[in-house]
Amino acid sequence: MIIKKVCFTLFFTIVLSSSFLAQNVIDSACIHTKIYSLASTEMQGREAGTLGGDIAKNYILDFLKSVKADKNTYLQKVPLVQIYNGKCYFFNKKDTLKENIDFYIAQKKTAKLLPLELKNNKIILLEFSSNWKNNLNKFKGKWIQFSFSDKRDKRIEELIQQKEYFIQNGILGLIISIPIETQSTFFSESKKTYLSQDLSYENFPVILINNNRFEQFLKRNKKISFTHKNTQFVNGFNIYTIFPGIKSTGNKTVLSAHYDHLGSNQRGVYYGADDNASGTAALMCIAHQIKKLENTAQQNEEDIVIAWWTAEEKGLLGSSYFTQNPPFDIQKINAVINVDMIGRYDTNYNPPNNYIYVIGSNFISNQLHLINEEVNNNGEKLILDYIYNLYDHPEDLFQRSDQYNFHLQGIPSIFFFSGFHSDYHTIYDTPDKIDAKKASKIASHIYNLTLNLSKTKNQIVR
Ligand SMILES: [Zn+2]
Repeated sequence: MIIKKVCFTLFFTIVLSSSFLAQNVIDSACIHTKIYSLASTEMQGREAGTLGGDIAKNYILDFLKSVKADKNTYLQKVPLVQIYNGKCYFFNKKDTLKENIDFYIAQKKTAKLLPLELKNNKIILLEFSSNWKNNLNKFKGKWIQFSFSDKRDKRIEELIQQKEYFIQNGILGLIISIPIETQSTFFSESKKTYLSQDLSYENFPVILINNNRFEQFLKRNKKISFTHKNTQFVNGFNIYTIFPGIKSTGNKTVLSAHYDHLGSNQRGVYYGADDNASGTAALMCIAHQIKKLENTAQQNEEDIVIAWWTAEEKGLLGSSYFTQNPPFDIQKINAVINVDMIGRYDTNYNPPNNYIYVIGSNFISNQLHLINEEVNNNGEKLILDYIYNLYDHPEDLFQRSDQYNFHLQGIPSIFFFSGFHSDYHTIYDTPDKIDAKKASKIASHIYNLTLNLSKTKNQIVR
């Protein structure tokens, strides 16, 4: 009996020790150099649909080529439309009213709406009353204006929501004049970007306008045209590379990070070293490491997809486009691991400290949560902090990065994030402030987790 027992113990020990994972596989120097390149002046803040975004895209592609991971690498074109504010106007030669300063178009996505002719004598000012719908047919072919003295008046929303009545009665457009402050910070964004497939093509404009400015404007101008000529169609690109599994059944573990950032403006370049050159660099170094496993005993069993999203900063647009136009069956995705900002510390922790916020791992399947915990216990032993791990957390962290689009498709998703800092979304998010050692530990854990999720036995049951 005793020998058998020893044998058993020995066997047990072997199995157990083999389940310990290699530590710090992802080299901090690899991450360091890539963050410096991605967050360089040359890349101009990597804004989607700009030259800087394109340079960043090519930098990732060139790297994949250099480590011979380009064979299964794909680009997904993401058609975007940029709508510039402040250049769309009611105009009559010199006299202009500027969008988002003097007026505001209530529909969000109206690129194809205009130009429309709006002549002075065609605007009908109506008093708001409970029977405003009744006589609308008398004003066919005209614009209707309502004036309110309080911009929070609940009836404004009622009018906008019931615009079908105006359309049915042949009304050309609705002007709601309200006391919005000029130069309102509420409308201060200089440019908005949308997926062009999501544009609304309806032809009924609802315009909220500053009532004093509009009144003065009408006095000075007999004829008014309204144009919206500053939409620009551009392309962003999602990049993804597939590492086929040695026992592949078509299931895929997706590891992702957005590579775009805010671009640059008169304040300077938004380098986005933490947001999200850190995650972008981590995935590049992980891709290299996974490539090295090819034709070895450690090669992934199921497919691994590493994806870099565009236009995250514009509202998760790249990942939204990917889930709406998937190049493979996205229901075959085992889990999505998303990485956004892993290079800095927040005020809850002092450096050096190996914590990471983990969000969403148990939202769809607890199995993903348990695998993540186990991989960490056997590997990097990070502090897994769950303070943000609430679907309706006041900060809405889970909804604020690309994993959310996959979650909406019912795909188990886990989000790694190391917290906010005062340089978040400023020109001061620079590479010198990154702790590449910390980022490499987190990246090493993410590498271990990705490989583990590629195992046949670790396909998540939903
Ligand atoms: Zn951001």
